[in-house]
Amino acid sequence: MQLSFSPIGTIHSPFKQKFAIPRQPGLVKEAQGLLELLPPYDHPDTLAGIEDFSHLWIIFVFHQTMNKGWSNQVRPPRLGGNRKKGVFATRSTFRPNPAGLSVVEFMGLIKEKNKLYLKLGGIDLLDGTPVIDIKPYLPYSDSIPDATAGFANKMPDTSMQVEFTKQAEDFCFSIREQYPQIKPFIISLLKQDPRPAYKKQKKTVQEYAMSLYNFNIRWTTENNICSVFSISPD
Ligand code: SAH
Repeated sequence: MQLSFSPIGTIHSPFKQKFAIPRQPGLVKEAQGLLELLPPYDHPDTLAGIEDFSHLWIIFVFHQTMNKGWSNQVRPPRLGGNRKKGVFATRSTFRPNPAGLSVVEFMGLIKEKNKLYLKLGGIDLLDGTPVIDIKPYLPYSDSIPDATAGFANKMPDTSMQVEFTKQAEDFCFSIREQYPQIKPFIISLLKQDPRPAYKKQKKTVQEYAMSLYNFNIRWTTENNICSVFSISPD
């Protein structure tokens, strides 16, 4: 059977590339984005009652990697990238059907110039992600406090220290009006240690960069310290 879905919305996210996006939702609270509803779904009627929910499930398509195929087994970053698990035992992006599922904070509706947006918090979504459905999170059924989760039983380690050079600090200060949370946001992202697993074993200084909003953030990682040494417009 061949099924086909069309997007009901599109994500506007500060994450312009895959690198350094949190590996699950809720890990970085400052990661906020907008879900723009597409016609004919962009009518307030489709959302009536949604304002009473604090969290939503977002079902989306891993559009940026969907043409890269999949395999029976993947190496989750959690396991140091060197042990394999079955694709259906992981949240890998490389799946037979590239469907993603994220529970996010619902921060309210925004109506602007004939467009209708849902403001979302704690996202792990790339800019431009196509959304195929939205469902309310139901704590009585969806929250399972005594659930077990195998190799991903605990929150990822966030013991990484994050430092800013004066240039980086000053830049954050200069954009504070429009981006008041930029510094805590960068700190939370780097505390997730976005490095690929095989790099984490290396003792040498490593240099990285990411695009966030329209800024280019550059940092080094050495042992357990990230040093943000440059932030500049893209
Ligand atoms: N919570 C989702 C996603 C987990 S994988 C789920 O469990 O299904 C999270 C990773 O997906 C992020 O780190 C990011 O690198 C990647 N990602 C997010 N949006 C994407 C997109 N549109 N296309 C490809 N990869 C994406």
